[in-house]
Amino acid sequence: MSSTIRIRGARTHNLKAVDLDLPRGELVVFAGVSGAGKSSLVFDTIAAEAGYQVNENYPPFVRNRLPRWSRPEAELLEGLSPVVLIDQKRLGGNARSTVGTITDAFTYLRLLFSRVGEPHVGESNHFSFNDPAGMCPSCAGLGEMLTTATEQVLDLDRTLEQGAILLPGFGNGQYWYRQYAEIGAFDPARPLRDWPAADREALLHREAAQRLSRDVPKDYEGVIDRFERIYLHTADNVSERKQAVLRRFTRSASCPDCGGERLREAARTARVLGRTIGEMSRMEIGELAGLIGQVRDPRVAPVVAALSDKLGALTGIGLGYLSLARPTTTLSGGESQRIKTVRHLGSSLVEMLYVFDEPTAGLHQHDVQSMIALLKSLRDKGNTLLVVEHDPAVMRAADRIVELGPAAGGAGGRIVFEGTFDELATADTPTGRGLRTRFREREPRTYKGKLRIDNARRNNLRDLTVDIPTGVLTVLTGVAGSGKSSLAAEFVAQHQATVVDQRPVSTNRRSSPLTYCGIAPAIRKLFARRSGAGPKLFSANSEGACPACRGAGAIYTDLAFMEGQETVCEACSGRRFTAEVLAHTVDGLSIADVDDLTVEEAVHRLPEPAVARALRQLVDVGLGYLRLGQPLTDLSGGECQRLKIAKELSAAEHPTSYVLDEPTTGLHLADTGVLLQVLDRLVERGNTVLVIEHDLEVIRSADWVIDLGPGPGRRGGRVVCSGTPRQLLACAESETARALRETA
Ligand code: ADP
Ligand code: ADP
Ligand code: ZN
Ligand code: ZN
Repeated sequence: MSSTIRIRGARTHNLKAVDLDLPRGELVVFAGVSGAGKSSLVFDTIAAEAGYQVNENYPPFVRNRLPRWSRPEAELLEGLSPVVLIDQKRLGGNARSTVGTITDAFTYLRLLFSRVGEPHVGESNHFSFNDPAGMCPSCAGLGEMLTTATEQVLDLDRTLEQGAILLPGFGNGQYWYRQYAEIGAFDPARPLRDWPAADREALLHREAAQRLSRDVPKDYEGVIDRFERIYLHTADNVSERKQAVLRRFTRSASCPDCGGERLREAARTARVLGRTIGEMSRMEIGELAGLIGQVRDPRVAPVVAALSDKLGALTGIGLGYLSLARPTTTLSGGESQRIKTVRHLGSSLVEMLYVFDEPTAGLHQHDVQSMIALLKSLRDKGNTLLVVEHDPAVMRAADRIVELGPAAGGAGGRIVFEGTFDELATADTPTGRGLRTRFREREPRTYKGKLRIDNARRNNLRDLTVDIPTGVLTVLTGVAGSGKSSLAAEFVAQHQATVVDQRPVSTNRRSSPLTYCGIAPAIRKLFARRSGAGPKLFSANSEGACPACRGAGAIYTDLAFMEGQETVCEACSGRRFTAEVLAHTVDGLSIADVDDLTVEEAVHRLPEPAVARALRQLVDVGLGYLRLGQPLTDLSGGECQRLKIAKELSAAEHPTSYVLDEPTTGLHLADTGVLLQVLDRLVERGNTVLVIEHDLEVIRSADWVIDLGPGPGRRGGRVVCSGTPRQLLACAESETARALRETA
């Protein structure tokens, strides 16, 4: 295999014919401001081509089952090897997947129990909740069951006529209404509270209805019977609407037969070192590692060694506070990424290409060091690591840093620096300068009042009562797993705070900054006014749309046995409109040209005050580089979050409480200043802002800091310090204070 990865003439998205040689076997960090082209180079060019080349080796039938890679724009890409992408996408939504199953640690634990469990049970699949031989038959190995939240179903103060049954479809005039109100068994004009208890029971359950002295129809089905038949006992749980109903009217409860342990009785009761497999799965991984080390039986020595390795790796990367039983659906993006990394540590593959997206997201400085050690050990096994990262500590650990820039979008896409950390620290590039800036220390603002979080016991919180100051910026800090998200969730629950998260803004390919800001109609009117044509002509969803692609700009061909293909529409060359529409211009711009403007350019070039005002909000949150027509589905989590802040800044009126989870994720050192200004703007409007954050500059700029810990999981859940950043510095017990002192 070639010893160098060679890239020539890469032009994906904004890349400007990038040439780059990367020696294999190194840890390379890609830096640069948001939108500079890091992802375009690392994910959409290098990883995409590597993935594409691997897939090419398979027949179409197999290829169809592999992740799809579209071929990047480049003249030459060579020296690649199979690629493993380790991103921050949360680990699947499957209820059967736990930290134990996904890391294989549970496989070893099952083996251990099948070999030396007392009383002896048998095969290792008898300990698997994903195998019919082992799963609890009542809950099919899920450990919990969805049950109707009965108290949510009826409004006792209403009559049936007034819609006492709150389930969708059961209200007055709706589909099921007559089955209850018009059968003569119940009084539809009387509030449910005044009914005999037996009647209320009968309304809900067929069994109870049959015990009534009066007649009910033969095929009578109680409200809950019907709801469960339609909503719970069906395989289709996917539609958004249905999910919303389920969230509102059901709750999950521990399986009454296995008590949540997911296994059949025999497997549940077998013991090793006096503990059941369920007990071991629920222990913190760090403690489990200690316990497993005490198994001395030579028959299982290799199993114990393999299990200890896995548990050690998880603890080493700062996840020792999790348990093997923890469902992967409840893990954060950062936790998911670290789990994925651990999965690969055990792999015996070498000479792979690993591509990471901000592996330090969600990590306290204290945990960043463990992540770095993990990256180095992957490299030392002979792999090549390409890491998109903003954290200076990771740059310092890299063999080589490549900076893209100098700015975002069209003003970026070039390599502005390549070299070591020491060289970067003196370089005149955005990242070099960012490494040298310190924010001015500022006087904390005075808070207006307090919102009390009472008796918080969520997850690991130790019955905390905490005051959140209002009208200022409060930062929640602490090592991963210390309880920050739990406390923030409790704040949201007790005080109706608005969460501004990093979830996608839209799943619709047609939504763009243009549609999101609500300025599309104003722009259509502008074009109509100047051209004398109707505004509808300028909508890609109606009259003016290219008839060949119906305004999509692309044609999707569904091929029965092969990958579907998206090709640029030939009729309009991807411009989406008919030639007639494109002939109309405003100051030299056609309606399709407007899509290609960046927000920043549009502020200056579109002569329409309302449009400029709406777009300026986007510039203010640092999104001036987005193109107006760019699909919102392309945005990163951090960009989605800032877009939502922009909307809050322009829309919300009243003082509101906001909660943000790690808004610096994906932000360049230089953009952190912009983010702080955005948070300041929220605060200046009288709002209360609570931010979970690890970035030391953001912590220094806070008005108030609440540090949780001191450790993760059971060793956390307490307030270590609550005060101004300066007061925090003096706290001896705080890991955060230590990190602040070390970088002061
Ligand atoms: P970074 O990773 O450095 O933040 P990106 O590589 O994501 O930057 O983006 C570089 C430029 O390419 C930006 O102007 C961005 O808007 C644009 N871009 C990103 N994804 C796409 C896409 N799927 N289609 C077109 N342009 C894109
Ligand atoms: P942080 O935000 O500081 O990283 P969290 O609030 O996410 O910490 O977690 C605090 C503790 O609660 C950890 O031990 C974590 O494993 C546990 N925990 C968090 N979410 C859940 C959950 N959904 N189910 C069970 N335990 C959880
Ligand atoms: Zn069960
Ligand atoms: Zn077309």
